[in-house]
Amino acid sequence: MRKTGIRRDARRVTAREFGMATPSPFAFDGNLIAALRSARFIAALTGAGISAESGLATFRDAQTGLWARFDPRELATPSAFARNPKLVWDWYAWRREHVATARPNAGHVALAELERRVPEFALITQNVDGLHQRAGSRSPIELHGNITRVKCSREGTVVERWTAPRDAVPRCAHCGAMLRPDVVWFEEMLPEQALAAADDAARRCNVMLVVGTSAEVYPAAALPALARRSGAIIVEINPNATPLSAAADYVLRGAAGVVLPTLVAALD
Ligand code: NAD
Repeated sequence: MRKTGIRRDARRVTAREFGMATPSPFAFDGNLIAALRSARFIAALTGAGISAESGLATFRDAQTGLWARFDPRELATPSAFARNPKLVWDWYAWRREHVATARPNAGHVALAELERRVPEFALITQNVDGLHQRAGSRSPIELHGNITRVKCSREGTVVERWTAPRDAVPRCAHCGAMLRPDVVWFEEMLPEQALAAADDAARRCNVMLVVGTSAEVYPAAALPALARRSGAIIVEINPNATPLSAAADYVLRGAAGVVLPTLVAALD
C-alpha cells in the first residue's frame, strides 16, 4: 500500500530536459509533482554534489594546490591524527577557511524553501560544510559532523575558541588533550543520535530526495533502500548515474542548483 496513494511508475525525467539553461517546470512528471504536493513527510539525503556549485570540491576532486599529494583516506583517520596531528589539523584548518568563503547555492536554498512547505521535513546530510544551515534549513541531521566545529579529542566537548600555536595542535583548555575537527573520520562510528534520526526519517517519509551523493558511502547509502522498503518514493537528483539510479522511482539528471529550484517552483 503506497503511503501517498501515488503509483510507483519508474518514469524518468531525462538529462535532455535539464540540459536547457532554464528547464520548464512542466518537464516534471505529473505523478512526481502530485506525490510531492500530497506528501506529509519529505526527507532529503544530500552529499558533496549539492555543494559543488558553491565551489566546494567533492572528496574525489578535493586534492588541489598545496594538498594535491595528500590522500583524504590517509588524512581523515584517527590513526593519521595519532601519527601526525599537526598535518591533519592543518589540512582541516585549510578546508575550514575554504568553507568559510563558500556560499550556499540555489539547491541549498530550494531545500530550505521545501522544508517550509511540508508538514514534516528531514534534511539528512553527509556534508560537513554547514551550508544547509546557512541557507536556512532548520536542523539538518549531520551524519558526518561539521568541519566548522572543533572538539576535544578526549572528552568530545565542542570548543568555541582556541589559540593555535604556530607549530603544534591547539589543546583543550579543560583537560589538555589535543583539539580536532568535529567530523566523522574513516574508521569512526557515526553519531548515534544522528543515525537514529536519519533511520526514523527514512522509515516514515513519503518521498525521499537523494541529491548529489554517489550513494556509495555506508551507512548513509543504505537510507534510500530503507525508505523505499518502507513505502517512500525515491527521487534521485544527480547529473551522473549512481548505484541507486536503477532503483529510484524518478531520476532527475542535472545539477542540484538547477533542478531543485525548478522542482520546488513547480509545486506552486
Ligand atoms: P561523492 O564525492 O562520493 O559524490 C558526489 C556526487 O555528487 C556524485 O555522484 C556526482 O555525480 C554528484 N554531483 C556532482 N556535481 C553535482 C551537482 N552540481 N548537483 C548534484 N549532484 C552533483 O560524495 P558523497 O556521496 O557525499 O560521499 C563522499 C563523502 O565525502 C561524504 O562522506 C561526505 O561527508 C564527504 N565530503 C563532504 C563535502 C562537503 O561537506 N561539501 C565535500 C567533500 C566530501
